[in-house]
Amino acid sequence: MSATTRTTTHELFNVRTPPDALSELLRALPAAVAAEEVATADALDRVLAEDVRSPGELPTFRRSTMDGYAVRAGDTFGATEGLPAYLEIVDEVFMGRAPTRSLVVGQCARIATGGMLPEGADAVLMVEQTQQVGATTIEALRAVAPGENVVKVGEDVRVGDAVLPRGHTLRAQDLGGLVALGVTSVRVARRLRVGVVSGGDELVDPHQEPGAGQIRDINSYTLGALIRRDGHTPCLLGIFPDSFDVLFAAAQRALAEDDVVILSAGSSVSTRDMTAQVIGQLGQPGVLVHGVSLKPGKPTILGLCAGRPVFGLPGNPVSCMVTYDLFVAPTLAHLSGASAIPRRTVSARLSRNVPSATGREDYIQVRLEQRPDGGLDAVPVFGKSNLIFTLIRSDGMLKVPLDAGGLSAGAMVEVVLF
Ligand code: AMP
Ligand code: MG
Repeated sequence: MSATTRTTTHELFNVRTPPDALSELLRALPAAVAAEEVATADALDRVLAEDVRSPGELPTFRRSTMDGYAVRAGDTFGATEGLPAYLEIVDEVFMGRAPTRSLVVGQCARIATGGMLPEGADAVLMVEQTQQVGATTIEALRAVAPGENVVKVGEDVRVGDAVLPRGHTLRAQDLGGLVALGVTSVRVARRLRVGVVSGGDELVDPHQEPGAGQIRDINSYTLGALIRRDGHTPCLLGIFPDSFDVLFAAAQRALAEDDVVILSAGSSVSTRDMTAQVIGQLGQPGVLVHGVSLKPGKPTILGLCAGRPVFGLPGNPVSCMVTYDLFVAPTLAHLSGASAIPRRTVSARLSRNVPSATGREDYIQVRLEQRPDGGLDAVPVFGKSNLIFTLIRSDGMLKVPLDAGGLSAGAMVEVVLF
C-alpha cells in the first residue's frame, strides 16, 4: 500500500477496556520523576515529594476565639442576667503581645479574637454576655466553662504530626498551613515536559486563513491547556503532514527533549494513519495498546518508547480531550507520584435516556441546569463528534460504564466538571 492508495479503514481488532489499557501502561512505567525544592508560596497544584511533619505546634499560645474578657471560669459559675457575677478589669491584652499580668480570683482582662490568654485565665466571656458597670467593673451575665472560647496550645496541630503526605496535590489551605508552621519551602515533583506533535495534511496554524479543505489546528492548544492545568509544561512542536518520515522526525525530537510525548491524530488504521507505525519504530517496546473500548476515543494508542510514555490520540478534538483525561492525565499523575487526581464532580439527574453498547465506556457531554427544587439536571449535549462547540456548550462529562447498555432518564449520575 502506498500513501496514494484510497483510504481503507480496517477494524481495530484488539480493543482493550479503558482501565485495562491504562494499567498496562502504568505497570510498564518507571517510578516517579525527580523532585525539586520550591517556595511554598509557589507550590499551588504541585505534588508533594516528601511527607511533611509539623516542626512546631499551632497555636503556640492559648488564643481567644471571641472578643470579650479573659476570665477564670470559676468566677462566673452560677452567673445569670438576673444574678450576675462582678469582675474587675485589671488589664487589656494587646494583639501580638504577651499579657502583662496574670489574673487572680475576681479579675478579668479585655481580650480580642486571637489574643493571648493571661496566666490564671482559662476561658473567655463574650462581650455580648457582659455589661460594663463602671470604669473597671463588668457584670458577667452568663457562666462560661473552663476552656470555653479558647483554643489550646497544639489544638490545631502538634509537633511531629504528619500534616501532609507525599503524593498530595497542594491546595490553597495547604500552603496556608505550611507557612503558618514556618515551612516556607517544600519538595515537590518537578513539572513534566510534555511534547505535542499535531499531525494532519489539513491543518493550518490558527493565525492563518484556512484554504479549501483545511482547518485550524485545535488540538495543540486544547492539549497544551490541559497539560498546563495539570501542572506540567507543554512543548508544542507544531503541525506536521501525514508523512511517516516527517512525523517520525518530529516524534524523535519530542522524545529526546520531553518526558512524555503526545501525537495528535492519525491514530486509527487507515493508510493515512501513521501514528502507530511511528510509535512502533520510535523505541522499545513501542505500541502497548492500539484500540480502546471507548466512545469517543476508540482509536487511541498507548505506547512506551525507551522508558517514556508516547500517546497516539485521535484527532477529533472531542475524542482528543476525552482520551487525554482518561490516559494522559493519570500517567502524568503517576509519574509525579500523585496519590489522586483532583477532579470536581457533582451529582445530577439525567434528563433523558442515553443509549450505549455494553462492553464500551461512553463519555457523554452534558450541560447542567438548575431545577426549581435546587437539584441539578444533566442535559446531554449531542452533536456530531467533530464539533468543538458541543464541548463549549457543556459543563462536564458523564460516564456510561462498560457494563451498562445505556442510562435511563431520571437516573442520578455523577458529572465530572470541566
Ligand atoms: P484523525 O485522527 O487523523 O483520523 O482525524 C480525525 C478528525 O480530527 C479529522 O476530521 C481531522 O481533520 C480532525 N483533526 C485532526 N487533528 C486535528 C487538530 N489538531 N485540530 C482539529 N481537528 C483535528
Ligand atoms: Mg488525520
